[in-house]
Amino acid sequence: PALRLDTISIFPQYFDVLRLSLIGKALAAGLIELHTHDLREFTHDRHRTVDDTPYGGGAGMVMKPEPWGEALDALLGSCPPGTERPVLVFTTPSGEPFTQRVAGQLASAPRLAFACGRYEGIDKRVMVWAREYFEVRELSLGDYVLNGGEVAALAMIEAIVRLVPGVIGNPESLVEESYSPHTEGMLEYPVYTKPARWRGLDVPPVLLSGDHGAVDDWRAARSLETTRARRPDLLGQPPSRS
Ligand code: SAM
Repeated sequence: PALRLDTISIFPQYFDVLRLSLIGKALAAGLIELHTHDLREFTHDRHRTVDDTPYGGGAGMVMKPEPWGEALDALLGSCPPGTERPVLVFTTPSGEPFTQRVAGQLASAPRLAFACGRYEGIDKRVMVWAREYFEVRELSLGDYVLNGGEVAALAMIEAIVRLVPGVIGNPESLVEESYSPHTEGMLEYPVYTKPARWRGLDVPPVLLSGDHGAVDDWRAARSLETTRARRPDLLGQPPSRS
C-alpha cells in the first residue's frame, strides 16, 4: 500500500513542488499519496482567522486551537477504522532534531501527517490533545528559526520519501550516504567524475588505480577526516557550537 502523506498549513501551495522530480514520480507511480489541507477551511468567521494574541503577553500571535482541532478531526475521519494510529508531526524549532535515523523510522509508517505552524507557533493544547489519537512527534529541522513549518515539512518529506522502497531507482545509492548506518553515521567522502584533470586539478590518483581495497581505505580515511573536522559530535565527541 502507498504511504499516505497529509499536510495542514495556511499555505498549501508550498507543497506543489512535491510534484517535481523523484517525489513527483513516486506520486505518479502511486508509491505515495499526498493530501494537502488549508487550515483556513476549518475556520467559521468572515476573516478566516487562525491566530490570536498570546496569553501572558508578549510580541506576535499564536495559532488558535479550534481550527487545528477541526482539521485534525477531519484527518481522523479519513482514517479507516481499526487501522494503526497515524504519525502526526508538528514542525517546531523546539522539537526533537530531525535526523536520518528519524527519517528511517517515519519511512515505515503507513500514514504521516505534517502540521505546519506560523506566527509564534500553535497553542500547546493542540499537541497535548492530539497525543490521544495520533503518534505525535514534535520535530525540528535544525537550530534556526524559519517563518513557518512548510519548508521544514518539505525537507522532512523529501528525506523520508526517498527511503520508501521503489522511490530511488538504485537502492544501493542509499547505502553509502552521509549519516547512513552503513557508513557508521559518518559524513560522506568527496566524489569525482570525468575528466581526470580539470582546470589544473587532478582527481586523486587512487580513484583511477582500479585497486578496490585501496579505494575503500582512501574513502574511509576521507570520511573520518571530514567528520572529525566538521561534526565531531557524530564520533561521540562534544558538538562544536558554531
Ligand atoms: N516562536 C517560535 C520559537 O521561538 O520557537 C518560532 C515560531 S516560527 C517563527 C513559526 C513556525 O515555523 C513554527 O511554529 C514552526 O512550525 C516553524 N518552524 C520554524 N523554525 C523551525 C525549525 N527549525 N524546525 C521546524 N519548524 C520550524
